[in-house]
Amino acid sequence: MRVNKLKGMYALLVAVAVMIGITIYGSCSADEEFDGYSPQDELYTLADRTTRSEMEGPEVSQFPTVDEILASTVVKNKLNVLWEETKSLASPAGRQELAIFIRYNKASHQYSFSETIYGDTIGCDTNARLRVNIDPPSDMCAFFHTHTTLEYCPGKKRKTGPTDLDISFVNNYGIPGILYDYKVNTLRGGMSKNKTKKISKYGAFNQRLD
Ligand SMILES: [Zn+2]
Repeated sequence: MRVNKLKGMYALLVAVAVMIGITIYGSCSADEEFDGYSPQDELYTLADRTTRSEMEGPEVSQFPTVDEILASTVVKNKLNVLWEETKSLASPAGRQELAIFIRYNKASHQYSFSETIYGDTIGCDTNARLRVNIDPPSDMCAFFHTHTTLEYCPGKKRKTGPTDLDISFVNNYGIPGILYDYKVNTLRGGMSKNKTKKISKYGAFNQRLD
């Protein structure tokens, strides 16, 4: 009689324990379904990122964006000098595009420039040609060039802005392009070379990535 009672209580305890177990398991499943994993995953991901960046030390220095490059007084002064030189080189005898690689020292955050690249001297019946016959500097962060006036080419016209060749050139190097041209859609022969200039940023890269 006494033994049977104990057995009965034991069976009851086991049953209660199993029910509690099912309840806990059930609530876990419910939680997982309800919350999903994403909030927790995000927390862990953020924690991981913090740990990783702490291990790497200070943020790795980047090349500047094209807007940062154009915000530099040193750069702007240089580009304006090249624009003025492009205008002064133009005459009834011909015209030349000018170009440079803009360089950036990631340690000192200083800009510098390649030697000036002078395009072929062309007349009014030829499209401008710019042979880049220097090695691109290893610290290049952008490529700049100018387009020429048609002041001495009456009856001629051209579309302004970067050409497909201009764009593919900078894309090949993975750097942004900067162009100075005239602030009209179509430049016509006889228009003054002192007309307002237009600054174009072009190519697939807003900044050099490596
Ligand atoms: Zn061009």
